[in-house]
Amino acid sequence: MSAAGEKVVAAAPAQAAEFEAVPVGKRCRRILSMDEEAMNRAIHTDFGLDPMTFLPDMDVLDNGMFDRVLDAVEAYDPGAVTAADVRRVLDADVVEPADFGVLVAPAAAPFLEEMAERARAERVRWFGTNIQFFTPLYLANYCENRCVYCGFNCESGIHRARLNEEQTIAELDAIAATGQEEILLLTGEDPVTSDVDYIARACELAAERFKNVGIEVYPANVADYARLREAGADFVTVFQETYDPSRYAKLHVRGRKRIMPYRFEAQERALKGGMRGVAFAPLLGLSEFRHDALACALHAYYVSRAYPHAEISFSCPRLRPAPGAVTPNGPHVTEAQLLQVICAYRIFMPFAGITVSSRESARFRDHVATITATKVSAGVSTGIGEHTHQEEEGDDQFEIDDSRTLAQMCKAMRGMGLEPVMNDHVLV
Ligand code: SF4
Repeated sequence: MSAAGEKVVAAAPAQAAEFEAVPVGKRCRRILSMDEEAMNRAIHTDFGLDPMTFLPDMDVLDNGMFDRVLDAVEAYDPGAVTAADVRRVLDADVVEPADFGVLVAPAAAPFLEEMAERARAERVRWFGTNIQFFTPLYLANYCENRCVYCGFNCESGIHRARLNEEQTIAELDAIAATGQEEILLLTGEDPVTSDVDYIARACELAAERFKNVGIEVYPANVADYARLREAGADFVTVFQETYDPSRYAKLHVRGRKRIMPYRFEAQERALKGGMRGVAFAPLLGLSEFRHDALACALHAYYVSRAYPHAEISFSCPRLRPAPGAVTPNGPHVTEAQLLQVICAYRIFMPFAGITVSSRESARFRDHVATITATKVSAGVSTGIGEHTHQEEEGDDQFEIDDSRTLAQMCKAMRGMGLEPVMNDHVLV
């Protein structure tokens, strides 16, 4: 299937039809029980899962947040926003949730300079000139899901690898030797090959060497997040990819990731498991980016209201080419549009972190860092074992654009009047 999923109109909700399910909110359901064989068959079959039906082994929060965000996005019409609306919102001291969509509408594009100035001022007010660094460590690239746009998807013919403990230690030591104090541990989403024990051990090893440990792994239940927190993880990143249910169902063909509301509730489960912070992002370019940016902003906002102690941050990834993946037929997001979204996040939630990864060019990242980003990656490799050139390296997830080392990044940031920070968290 080209642009896989593009020709498929609807998922076949096999498991929902065959097993007793109860309603969860107005859009979702939950299957009460299902034998393991049927569940595995559904997980490993294209379109075998209903995107709106939780499996019996999944925690369900059912607090209305999913419906609230999707209702707001359905009602959003970017084309109806006028220049007068933008003026009104920019003249207010605080941007209300109902007004975020104004800032990412086409009518706000001519105000980008003014938005950038306000975003810059808010960043200085909340974060000074600090810019924090981290690097990702890819532990494994096995994945049970088939996301058509990703090179790690279970049907792509890439070279798979998973670091063993000795290799993990070597990679962690090599990264720590560069001066990094924050690490983001990533796996593909395969709870069998990279089970919670495996990830927990990697967190323990990382926490011995780094002051901040983030994880970007498959969405888990509260008890598993609590276990990973205990092992040393501090924060959790989960990309929702797109908040458009029909697009989501077309692009996520196989695996547990098809179940959209379970992914949506991951940040809350992580916080209930004791994590210090959570990060949110759509993958811009998979669907209509203004709607996705609005949904992400509201999602992060409602979580911040429900968990006031949580550190909240946004990532701002745009789709990148990847070996073994298909580029979906989504709208291209320009740099100016990406900057508009980033400035809107800052103006709406001035206290939130904003991360810009090495998917973007050095020129763009430097520009955004001077305006409002608070965290950037450096010394990045998205392959498995590449930091220490392991014999059995696994292929990269996507192509990066900015390959500067930590030392090069620090020099560049200082040259722009920013203060590189390796860690801003002190345990007392
Ligand atoms: S995007 Fe994540 S879940 Fe999807 S195929 Fe890639 S690694 Fe797996």
